[in-house]
Amino acid sequence: MTTATVNKPELDWPVVIYLIIIHIGALFVLLPSNFTWWGVGTAVFLHWVTGGLGITLGFHRLITHRSFQTPKWLEYFFAFCGTLACQGGIIDWVGLHRQHHQFSDQSLDPHDSNRGFWWSHIGWMCFKSPDPEGIRRYTRDLNDDPVYQFLDSYFIPIQVVLGIVLFLLGGWPLVVWGVFLRLVLVFHCTWLVNSATHMFGYKSHESGDRSTNCWWVALLTYGEGWHNNHHAYQYSARHGLAWWEVDMTWMTIQLLQFLGLASKVRLPNFMTADSEA
Ligand SMILES: [Zn+2]
Ligand SMILES: [Zn+2]
Repeated sequence: MTTATVNKPELDWPVVIYLIIIHIGALFVLLPSNFTWWGVGTAVFLHWVTGGLGITLGFHRLITHRSFQTPKWLEYFFAFCGTLACQGGIIDWVGLHRQHHQFSDQSLDPHDSNRGFWWSHIGWMCFKSPDPEGIRRYTRDLNDDPVYQFLDSYFIPIQVVLGIVLFLLGGWPLVVWGVFLRLVLVFHCTWLVNSATHMFGYKSHESGDRSTNCWWVALLTYGEGWHNNHHAYQYSARHGLAWWEVDMTWMTIQLLQFLGLASKVRLPNFMTADSEA
């Protein structure tokens, strides 16, 4: 049961200030003196590592939904990649997303899309949760794991270390591109899954919520834009279910399976592929 109350929401100033700092830092790419092709390449590469391998494959399909299994060391590696996306602690991230699925587009959905595009995109996280500890009810499989506790607590210091490494390799331009701009791009790509794919696109399944399939979000998020499919088959490792619904993360999971690094790959029961290995 929830203890959520209907008190007036209170701004979460640390989060608001954090988001403002990251966005202002990203604006420094506009200075011609900060342009470097190494910076562009680093931003693209880290977008894939943190947004694709980290958030989409790791945080979402592997850890939140357990749609396949990997050796524990590889699960921790993907969790580390996702931690580098700096979208809060991993335990909170997983808990909030599981709550989203339990109450999709209802009042207890953390980013209920009935409250508008901007609320589900960014607004919801700028206000204090009425029940911050309650989210741990959704993450009993993670709460006591020391690796997840560490990643959850130290996601900002870990990002600072990455920033120092990039600074030593290429000075401020590499930090501006590889940390600030890349974080902003991965933030908004991830957030589009909460906003755009509960609003724009088409529905293939009656999933009981507002989720949609949206090709351009799928391109930006390594396959997460097939979000109506995902709401209908939350346990499925594959989100793009039609042949033309390109799902780069599903291709990556197939590669891991080929290499013997992914097992118990779950698919919708109408797909007879090599699931439940
Ligand atoms: Zn999900
Ligand atoms: Zn959703």
